[in-house]
Amino acid sequence: MPANEKNQEISVSDLLLYINCPRRVYFVSRGFELFPEINASRLEKMLLKELSLNYPEIVKKCSLNADTMREELEAALSQAREDLPIMFPKEFAHTENGFLEEGNARARAKIPEIAANLIKGLEEFGKDAMLAALTPVKTEPIISSERLNLKGSPSKIVCFEGVNVPSIIRPGSCPLQGVWASDRIHVASLALLLEAESGKEIPFGFVEYVSFGIVRKVVIRSSDRREVLKICRRVEKIKAGFMPEKTEEKFCPECTFSEHCVSESSLMSKFF
Ligand code: SF4
Repeated sequence: MPANEKNQEISVSDLLLYINCPRRVYFVSRGFELFPEINASRLEKMLLKELSLNYPEIVKKCSLNADTMREELEAALSQAREDLPIMFPKEFAHTENGFLEEGNARARAKIPEIAANLIKGLEEFGKDAMLAALTPVKTEPIISSERLNLKGSPSKIVCFEGVNVPSIIRPGSCPLQGVWASDRIHVASLALLLEAESGKEIPFGFVEYVSFGIVRKVVIRSSDRREVLKICRRVEKIKAGFMPEKTEEKFCPECTFSEHCVSESSLMSKFF
């Protein structure tokens, strides 16, 4: 690419796609839809995300009372179930009502474990630390850096130990210890963006595993920063037209693009 040609801006969501499978970046950058339909599993995750936005209020109110906490979580989930179709009208336009009920039932089944883990967190870290880690000072701000050619939006920015740090909401599974490698890169990329904006070092961030009521701190290492920069450069190349090798097979059976992603030569014949 000529030195004066500007790279297409990349986003943190591109980096996450790349971690799943580099080819997904290629397809999405060419207008293919990643999630063409809403199903019960996706609705469960959307409901749990909305529910988690109530955790600070609920933790503040309930302290160590498990029964009250469960009741408050149930009430907040019912509200989220009512609000979801209003918040996402486009997504719900072609969604069967049964999916929402199934997603709601699945999310509701998680409440006892969420309540137990929130209480465990309160006992282990104390109410002030839990509230600081959960309470947003900003929700879903868009941050960008010209220098990094990157933009992104943390689920929240929270103020912990006097530092504003990124926090991401993950509705999927939770590792036994620490955070998943992809979540580490996610938090690190947002920390780099926040640093570019604030001019201050961001030494850590948080991952909220909302289906479990668990919040984990991630210390950002130099190796995480290096990995983010490396992935950024690779994503830029893909968005400029480079087709990556088909390396990751484990996501293929459920991948939206599997029908288009046979091999490089047959793929090219579909386009040209
Ligand atoms: S089908 Fe497999 S290789 Fe192709 S984009 Fe999907 S996950 Fe990647």
